[in-house]
Amino acid sequence: MEIFQDHIDKFLGLAVSREYGFLKKSQWYSPEALVEIQNHKLSKLLRHAARNVPYYLEFSDQLQQVANSTHPLNCISNLPIITRDILRHQVNDFKAKNHKEKLRQRIKTGGTTGQPLELYIDDYLRILNRAVERRGDYEWTMVSPRSKIAIIWGQAPKRSYNLNGWMKRLKENVQGSIHRRWRFYISRITDEELAVQAMHIAALKPDILLGYASMLTRLAVYVIEHPEVKIKPRVVLSTAETLSTDRKDIMQQAFACRIANRYSMAEFGTVASECPAGCLHIHAERVIVEVVRNGKPVADGQEGEIVITDLDNYAYPLIRYATGDIGVISTERCNCGRDLPVLRSIDGRIVDYIASSSLAVPLLGNHLIRCFTKDDNIAKRIRQVQVEQRELDKLEVTIVCKDNCSLELDDEQKIKQYMIDEYFGSTCMQIMFHYADCVKTTAAGKTPFFINSISQS
Ligand SMILES: [Zn+2]
Repeated sequence: MEIFQDHIDKFLGLAVSREYGFLKKSQWYSPEALVEIQNHKLSKLLRHAARNVPYYLEFSDQLQQVANSTHPLNCISNLPIITRDILRHQVNDFKAKNHKEKLRQRIKTGGTTGQPLELYIDDYLRILNRAVERRGDYEWTMVSPRSKIAIIWGQAPKRSYNLNGWMKRLKENVQGSIHRRWRFYISRITDEELAVQAMHIAALKPDILLGYASMLTRLAVYVIEHPEVKIKPRVVLSTAETLSTDRKDIMQQAFACRIANRYSMAEFGTVASECPAGCLHIHAERVIVEVVRNGKPVADGQEGEIVITDLDNYAYPLIRYATGDIGVISTERCNCGRDLPVLRSIDGRIVDYIASSSLAVPLLGNHLIRCFTKDDNIAKRIRQVQVEQRELDKLEVTIVCKDNCSLELDDEQKIKQYMIDEYFGSTCMQIMFHYADCVKTTAAGKTPFFINSISQS
């Protein structure tokens, strides 16, 4: 009966309203009260992970110790950090043994190391994340929860034209209408296709444009060049990528409305949202955000890697997960009066882009990985590959072959051609090949697929 009630609640959005009702109040709590919530949720999560999650069995004493301390949040840095590499190799070890498989949802993340990663979230997180979105995307941008949202996303998912595929699209359309959220995919489409998409977006008359900063910028450039296309949202929410001043200016010029930032990722949903006073507040009731260097917390106001603990993912606990993003937590109090902690900047991800003098749209370096996996015969000869950029308009590809030899010139030519066809077109990108015994490792011990040494220098 309880399960039946849960389904009704979810269907009618009552569960979301209930969770939002709490978040609406708790955003005005004192810092002490917010820390109290985090301490309580953290110790509960640690006890659960120590008992039920295979990966944490090895660390169960440490977890129990922190859980039993009077202030678990202060001791969290005693716990190990989870990297994407650990997750990739032990993906099933993070599944809680006492959690039903059907209450676990599989998600895919794009990843910053060149390899997508599949992991899981607790089914109930969809409800909690929608409640967080209601507070961050609607309340803080001062639009009604019944507003229309156009989601400007990257690459369209693969479409299959069998019965399953049609059913999936039908479900998406029905859900889109119920929740008033419609998706548009504008990555890797031609200018003609973009014109059609822009027309559809204009016809929808969305109140909110939400999307990747790079995709919103592409749409903004189109709108500026085609003033007859009227897209007039009340707010633009930029997410998942760095919102640079340049991009913000272009969006401002095109859409003439408030441009707000949001920090989110597939693993955790929305982590932080911009309040009406312009600060990026962490949704502290949902997540713990730390900024660390070499695993240890930095002093307030110092830059470091953002490490996140999800306080509600009981199906797949991620405790101290290293995001690869660089950020700073501010101790200054925001003028809006909320005491939810503030992320002052997230600007580490710009290094993920290819520097080019002629690319119309910013391109993530990791997109190129597809050019090495497209041809099976080439892919099975490669052990490791890394693309480094040390100069504008020039890419240096380092390949480690399984047989310690090198690829044939024809194969190199094929890879180059894929890159040109898919990404570079008639731009002047130079592509060089080298062969080595291993690829470069960063100071943090990572071997990223793409390194932008220009932005790092
Ligand atoms: Zn604020």
